Amino acid sequence: MPRIYTSCSDPLDFCRECFPSEDEAEDAYGNLGDGQDGRGNCFGYNEDHPDYEDTDYRCETCKTPLTAKDN
Ligand SMILES: [Zn+2]
Repeated sequence: MPRIYTSCSDPLDFCRECFPSEDEAEDAYGNLGDGQDGRGNCFGYNEDHPDYEDTDYRCETCKTPLTAKDN
């Protein structure tokens, strides 16, 4: 699934089951504050991420380890 960035520019990764709609994501993460260094609101919904099978990332919501099927 795509990566989501909060408005603070924190990356969030989700498994296939938990990936939120764009409206849900913007409600939850779109107005938490601005990114560093004057970058303003960094909310992003459709961002690239490393292949999850090469990482130990976990789903932001259910904490399940992410695998290739979640890419
Ligand atoms: Zn999940």
